[in-house]
Amino acid sequence: RDAARELLVRRDDGVLAEVQEHYYSGAVEPPRVERGWRHHLATTDGRVLLDMLNNVTVAGHAHPRIAAAASRQLARLNTNSRFHYAGVVELSERLASLLPDPLDTVFLVNSGSEATDLAIRLATVATGRPDVVAVREAYHGWTFASDAVSTSVADNPAALETRPAWVHTVEAPNAYRGRYRAARGDDLGRYAADAVAAVDALAAAGHPPAGFIAEAFYGNAGGMPLPDGYLEAVYAAVRRHGGLAIADEVQVGYGRLGSTFWGFQQQGVVPDVVAVAKSVGNGHPVGAVITTREVAARYRDAGYFFASTGGSPVSCAVAMAVLDVLQGEQLQENARVVGARLKGALTSLAERHRLIGAVHGEGLYLGVELVRDRETLEPAREETAALCDRLLDLGVVMQPTSDRQNVLKVKPPLCVDEAAVDFFVAAVDRALSEIA
Ligand code: PMP
Repeated sequence: RDAARELLVRRDDGVLAEVQEHYYSGAVEPPRVERGWRHHLATTDGRVLLDMLNNVTVAGHAHPRIAAAASRQLARLNTNSRFHYAGVVELSERLASLLPDPLDTVFLVNSGSEATDLAIRLATVATGRPDVVAVREAYHGWTFASDAVSTSVADNPAALETRPAWVHTVEAPNAYRGRYRAARGDDLGRYAADAVAAVDALAAAGHPPAGFIAEAFYGNAGGMPLPDGYLEAVYAAVRRHGGLAIADEVQVGYGRLGSTFWGFQQQGVVPDVVAVAKSVGNGHPVGAVITTREVAARYRDAGYFFASTGGSPVSCAVAMAVLDVLQGEQLQENARVVGARLKGALTSLAERHRLIGAVHGEGLYLGVELVRDRETLEPAREETAALCDRLLDLGVVMQPTSDRQNVLKVKPPLCVDEAAVDFFVAAVDRALSEIA
């Protein structure tokens, strides 16, 4: 414990920039975690924690098949992706085969931020235009362009006012607490109508957008589905003016929703550019952008692309092992079945705990939104922080999300089982009773 504390001081007061994100609120001492196994994390003081948060390790921690693939490849060859080796071709073919036509051309990168950044560059280069439309309260990454379209104010209260001039935002299509609400019987189609009007207005003002970027399931809200028909309408408007539709699947994609492999499939659309990462490497840095041959060819004429380690032999070996595990262990189906059980149980908890305003999401992409009042929807921010701290005592890793930090981010590895989610629900039940 002393060693863990000493390490923390070196981290927080020593070498790391203060701005770097970490998993701990400051109110409680964070566990020092050096090992993981499936949906569990082991601390150096001998505790085993249930990881209900980890949206990167789809296949679970320390998967032996993935570890073996990585170490085998490391012992053979790892170099940059300029060279000619099988992995880069095989992985790209597999990724393309997971996407509908005409999405058949793959760029391999190292992270989600790189993927969304490249997606934006593809759109601006292919259209020869600078302007991009994004959804408010979203997060797309930290690099220059991906940060520019990120207007979540959770970490930067000035996010909306400090966007570059080429970024245009539309209302967050949040049917729970946004401008139009399901509970009030509002017409949720107005979110799309307003966004279409914004795109039309940009075009009329001589700034037709290069593209529109959005998650198909709104992650920062805790996994809020977009209103039916939203992407269809907005994609059509953007394309009518010659722009491209970009789907950020970095968090929502790769089977997490259970019923579909990709988020955009739930909206019945096919984007022009898809950005994916996180799950692709199960924690190893690899991501991809998949687009059409035509868009990629236009980029060829005006853009430069080379990511030294994007799609390296080791990254490709890892990414293919992840896909083997996802398919072999039927983890998408597990996300559907276990996710439905979990959502059902969390929803039942709302009958006894007034603090639970809603349970958003689908599969293992869920958000439990905590409010002080179900009418005013006043965010229960402090209660959410206290709940996460108490859950850690009870053996569960959980963190708040959303601009209001009042949503439990329930996104465990897709191998999580029924016993684990029942344990989680019991812990939430107990912690909520104590807080009340
Ligand atoms: N897009 C979305 C929707 C994300 O959730 C994230 C990561 N939280 C990113 C992009 C950026 O990914 P990365 O952290 O790998 O750069």
